[in-house]
Amino acid sequence: MEYSTEQDWEIVIGLEIHTQLATQSKIFSGASTQYGAEPNTQACAVDLGLPGVLPVLNEEAVSMAIKFGLAIDAEIAPYSVFARKNYFYPDLPKGYQISQMDLPIVGKGHLDIDVDGVTKRVGITRAHLEEDAGKSLHEDFHGLTGIDLNRAGTPLLEIVSEPDMRSAKEAVAYMRKIHELVRYLGISDGNMQEGSFRCDANVSVRPKGQQEFGTRTEIKNINSFRFIEKAINFEVERHIEIIEGGGRIVQETRLYDADKDQTRSMRSKEEANDYRYFPDPDLLPVLIDSELLASIKANLPELPTAKKQRFKDQYLLDDESATILTSSRDLADYFETVVAKSGAEAKLCANWVTGEVIAALNKNGIEITEAPISPDRLGGLLLRINDNTISGKIAKQVFETMWQEPGGADEIIASKGLQQITDTGAIEAIIDQIIADNPDQVAQYRSGKDKVFSFFVGQAMKQTQGKASPAEVNKMLKAKLQ
Ligand code: ADP
Ligand code: MG
Repeated sequence: MEYSTEQDWEIVIGLEIHTQLATQSKIFSGASTQYGAEPNTQACAVDLGLPGVLPVLNEEAVSMAIKFGLAIDAEIAPYSVFARKNYFYPDLPKGYQISQMDLPIVGKGHLDIDVDGVTKRVGITRAHLEEDAGKSLHEDFHGLTGIDLNRAGTPLLEIVSEPDMRSAKEAVAYMRKIHELVRYLGISDGNMQEGSFRCDANVSVRPKGQQEFGTRTEIKNINSFRFIEKAINFEVERHIEIIEGGGRIVQETRLYDADKDQTRSMRSKEEANDYRYFPDPDLLPVLIDSELLASIKANLPELPTAKKQRFKDQYLLDDESATILTSSRDLADYFETVVAKSGAEAKLCANWVTGEVIAALNKNGIEITEAPISPDRLGGLLLRINDNTISGKIAKQVFETMWQEPGGADEIIASKGLQQITDTGAIEAIIDQIIADNPDQVAQYRSGKDKVFSFFVGQAMKQTQGKASPAEVNKMLKAKLQ
């Protein structure tokens, strides 16, 4: 059979996401999980697997995994077991990784994603706890490899999806949604540069209408939303090209090279490790009772979907604004503080946060938590638009100043003399002068050329440096030009 275009193919994607849990100490030891320490200063005897020491499970990691499970409507296993996954690698000092195999802590759940206005449900097969490995350092060692074991034993939650996604776009939407969720739950910082959130993408294609899945390849360890999309798209095209050329796909693990924007083979199924999983004899099974579950459930924060709906109901925001503002808990909190502080219409606050604030954050490459304008200060500024002290245009000037300098909106407005001119006498004098100076335009307007009206408004705003109340200027001009 021949398939000549991509229209004939269906893409199938399943993701395995590794997210580091934000516990203070490691999953089986008391060593710190802090990122960025001097190499090998945060790996203790347990992390190194030295003889005579025993792992002790970190309860916080367990409760974080449960939070995640509850948030995706999953079954939380009342009984789960840690297993040893055996393989040799220089950054794995014990010779095995403690993970979960047959009995993971989080069972089947699901998550809804939105792509192009359509909501789709993605199945989550399972999520299990495991320990991270150390890190091999290839730079700075002149042909040698350095090993940093600080990361060894950092708790990971591996979240495995069903092969439910049908495009790279859907895969990115799912990955973003999980990223958003773990940050909302406060169980991971989600920092992708530091490796706190990484993804393996499993990709296959099949002729449209075919029941069985095609052979998949797995692209390992991608830590960027942009790269995952590119890597999947490259891989899909590669699969289609091979099959249409009469070849067949070999099941294998591949690496994505961002510089070349292509994937290359890392190891094939035949070379795959046999991990010889078996239950870890050093660790007891994890028992979770309904009391613990209930108490964790009672303390779950408001989740993204619920928050978005509330923003639409309570603040009457459109879907787009509500989506942007609830994209992180910090941004949502910021917005709500601005609304409370300013007393201004929520819509105005939403426009400022999604507009000026986000633009300034992007321009400076910083997060909302690092914004030099606190929500209290922004609230103070919007308060002054709301009570007509300044126009929206002047407010943008004040905003720029506030971004650079300390001080509240009122101080800046006063020190720069930016208050709106509400003295109607002063505005009237200026308008009378403009009318006297421009007899031609006056005649044009009176003969029916309505467009000339904006000329007068422009002049008035120019002569008052934008400080006249636009509403007042309009009203007065209308009356005088009749
Ligand atoms: P393994 O344990 O070998 O990694 P799994 O069966 O656990 O394999 O699957 C790993 C991931 O691969 C899951 O996210 C799953 O949804 C996805 N997957 C399985 N089969 C396919 C396929 N044919 N095409 C795309 N993804 C797949
Ligand atoms: Mg896998």
